[in-house]
Amino acid sequence: MGRRSGPRAGTDEVPFFSQATTFGVLWPLVEERVNEVFATGKFSHGRHVAEWERELAAYTGAGFAVGVNSGTDALVLLLRACGLRRSEGVLVPVYSFVATASSVVLAGGRPEFVDIDPVTYAMDAAALESAVTPASRFVMPAHLFHQMADMAALGAVAARCGLTLVEDSAEGIGMRQYGRHAGLHGKGGVLSFFPSKTLGALGDAGAVLTDDPEVAEMVRALRHHGRLGPTLGDFATISTETDVPGYNSKMDDIQAAVLSAKLTCLDNDIARRAELAAAYHERLHDIPGITRLPHVVERAPHGAEHPQESGESRPVFYVYLIEADDRDRLAEHLTRRGVGTEIYYPTPLHLQPCFAHLGHSRGDFPRAEAASARALALPLYPDLDVEQVDRVSETIREFYTGKPT
Ligand SMILES: *Cc1c(COP(=O)(O)O)cnc(C)c1O
Repeated sequence: MGRRSGPRAGTDEVPFFSQATTFGVLWPLVEERVNEVFATGKFSHGRHVAEWERELAAYTGAGFAVGVNSGTDALVLLLRACGLRRSEGVLVPVYSFVATASSVVLAGGRPEFVDIDPVTYAMDAAALESAVTPASRFVMPAHLFHQMADMAALGAVAARCGLTLVEDSAEGIGMRQYGRHAGLHGKGGVLSFFPSKTLGALGDAGAVLTDDPEVAEMVRALRHHGRLGPTLGDFATISTETDVPGYNSKMDDIQAAVLSAKLTCLDNDIARRAELAAAYHERLHDIPGITRLPHVVERAPHGAEHPQESGESRPVFYVYLIEADDRDRLAEHLTRRGVGTEIYYPTPLHLQPCFAHLGHSRGDFPRAEAASARALALPLYPDLDVEQVDRVSETIREFYTGKPT
């Protein structure tokens, strides 16, 4: 498929992201699929969701994909379906989107924070081992920005400590480690299709991925008021008896149709994101003041002697995150020059007011605190062109060298 020619905010501006530009040449296909939904007259619990679930399971290699109405709900339903009970501990990375930990609270559990590995920005295996408490029952690493957490190392700690492993793989569509898609390294994982994500819908949507038929069935029940159906995935046979108190967290058929259309371009988009990341690297690597560029950990297949590690790994550049001296002033400078940026994540989770009751204070998780003070995300989406990468990079160079280029 050729490059997109989506609408632009303005010739000189480089917006951080625009929800309107992510469809480009796919609009006609999206429209066609959405019109099919209109023609069925069924916008919720229709056949498009079931079809999308099969396509998503095929793309990811999951035994089951269950569509729900957001990545956040997917986390809550996954934790409940995996049997999280009241007040049980779920070890989560302290540097992530707030939903990684708020989902634990919403599912009745207690978040237990773990500091990060400064290379992957994901949960650190040694830090995990020392954070385990007698209440710990689950561990839920998150895969952030452009690559997965070290699942072999985290999985080994989980096994040693008797923890159930689930994944906040909300950002992880397309990411693989040793042949296995994000979300499928433990009992289950999630995806978010929020518009800014690598695969974005026309609003909110999410999914649970799992190989476990019981988890899949329970998520299907919980998303629909707790009604267990006799046949997995067959909406027509869902019972009207309510078995467990559930939620209303169904995926809309329109979102399913949109995502199915966009999936046809996903691998192209992922390749384009990698090209743009390489273009940034080339232009930024020698700028004083930029103390870190994204680093992809090489995970070469080990071959027959380690069958668990014999498949390919693939990073996916969802976010291009740098670390920079004087980060806040750099961000202001870029804003003044029409370049949008975003801080991921400005407040580590232990310092969020909603988790104050957990009793942490500044200094408890020094790596996450250091990252949140220095990290800055630059514009990265398939419609961006290399001239815009040039413009962003030159504006950064100008900030540190004082010279317009
Ligand atoms: C986006 C995101 C979520 C939440 O997904 P929504 O679809 O926005 O609810 C959860 N965790 C992480 C790491 C995310 O990036």
